[in-house]
Amino acid sequence: MANLKFLIVDDSPTMRRIVINTLKRLGYRDIEDADNGSSALDKLKTIPGINFVITDWNMPVMDGLQLVTTIRSTPEYSKLPILMVTTRSVKEDIIDAMKAGVNNYVVKPFTPDTMKAKIETILSKGV
Ligand SMILES: [Mg+2]
Repeated sequence: MANLKFLIVDDSPTMRRIVINTLKRLGYRDIEDADNGSSALDKLKTIPGINFVITDWNMPVMDGLQLVTTIRSTPEYSKLPILMVTTRSVKEDIIDAMKAGVNNYVVKPFTPDTMKAKIETILSKGV
């Protein structure tokens, strides 16, 4: 198993808990969380070693798309793997997210197997 340190970003405490529990079931233990894009950027700057971001789209203060855009325009984070997990399922939204720089996309609700497959797909591409 890759040595991953996750940052889970979602404004819903319930959804953060679901994602964290899913990752733990998949064997991952090194997991931080944040409740919006702005606090996520703060954690990226202050907590060393985060190497995988899983983010919601719709959040107050700074949404997931703004977070992705900011990460991709910051040289030290430009290659950071990002998985977006969102209720937004229309094709145009997925295209916008991919254009902003997410590595993969999961529509809520999701199964642990889907989460596992999306993470492994990202890692297999060597990002
Ligand atoms: Mg949300």
